[in-house]
Amino acid sequence: MNINLLDEQQLEKLRSLIAESEHIVICAHKSPDGDAVGSSLAWKAYLQQLGKTDVKVCLPDAFPDFLQWMPGTQEIVRYDKRPALVQQIFDNADLVCCLDFNQITRVDDMCTVLESCKAKRLLIDHHLEPDTNNELTLSFPKLSSTSELLFSLIWQMGGYEDMTKACAQCIYCGMMTDTGGFTYNSTRPEIYFIVSQLLSKRIDKDNIYNRVYHNYSSNAIKFRGHIICNKLNIVEELHAAYFAVTKEEMRQFKFIKGDLEGVVNIPQQIKGLKLSISLREDTEKPNLVLVSLRSGNGFHCQPMAVQFFNGGGHADASGGKLHCSIQEAEQIALNAILAFKDQLK
Ligand code: 5GP
Ligand code: MN
Repeated sequence: MNINLLDEQQLEKLRSLIAESEHIVICAHKSPDGDAVGSSLAWKAYLQQLGKTDVKVCLPDAFPDFLQWMPGTQEIVRYDKRPALVQQIFDNADLVCCLDFNQITRVDDMCTVLESCKAKRLLIDHHLEPDTNNELTLSFPKLSSTSELLFSLIWQMGGYEDMTKACAQCIYCGMMTDTGGFTYNSTRPEIYFIVSQLLSKRIDKDNIYNRVYHNYSSNAIKFRGHIICNKLNIVEELHAAYFAVTKEEMRQFKFIKGDLEGVVNIPQQIKGLKLSISLREDTEKPNLVLVSLRSGNGFHCQPMAVQFFNGGGHADASGGKLHCSIQEAEQIALNAILAFKDQLK
């Protein structure tokens, strides 16, 4: 199967960017998920395989606990914890690789560091509407994950033979998490060709699934039950559902990062549901509400994320944020649903 993505010119440019660079920094979006962390660590492993000795992964903030097992997480440098060190790494870099995000604002507070960085910039991503102000922009929104994209790049550059099991584990995890365990956005046959190649590296896919999805604390499971049982608002006639989670509830259920990952997908199990919206108070910043949207059954949530929630994302999985109280956010969500009523009916 031909999984090559780059034309000759892009391939040549990518090769020369890597060859010319000695100090490489890899970064990904705020609240990094399995794909952001997986693709970052896999790209680092590949660059090291090519003999690069100074490759660092810098992330804006914490990633969920259930990704801690991934090989290489110990060396990740977090901007929220060590801003001066991250600044220094960017200052020293001659190549910055931006993975799994389309616009530099997606790195949140780390944006100033990225913006002022003099190094050449390489963007590798699968979101719609990427920034193109880069030395090389490798944007493929058709792909299910940045990790899938990375595999194809490594494959096309002839790096598969030497790929380590650790690198394969990271790629698999990114592909798995961005498709909800291969349940959405995952019908392209190329995905399973790649999975078969990763399995040939002796990764244990069932074990990776368990580490990611069967890793909740009892508090987290109860919290999820509480949200579905007590907090879910369903607008039956518009096939839409939304819920809002407060800081107080997060305290009550001893919330840690990752506990609510994927809860927004649960209402989609309702027959015929077209839209699910999650609203969650930020644990640190006041008056900040984090928004996640999921869609299906012919409705696409991305325009709603742009129009109502200062965000964006993929056609059926988007996000954003609101600077208001959680009560106001609920009203905005309801307004958004009503504004799209013709498509949701
Ligand atoms: P999640 O709901 O999993 O946090 O995010 C779903 C998708 O929406 C992800 O692909 C993510 O990149 C995108 N997304 C989340 N938050 C934002 C945001 O604030 N702005 C934009 N443009 N995209 C976002
Ligand atoms: Mn992704």
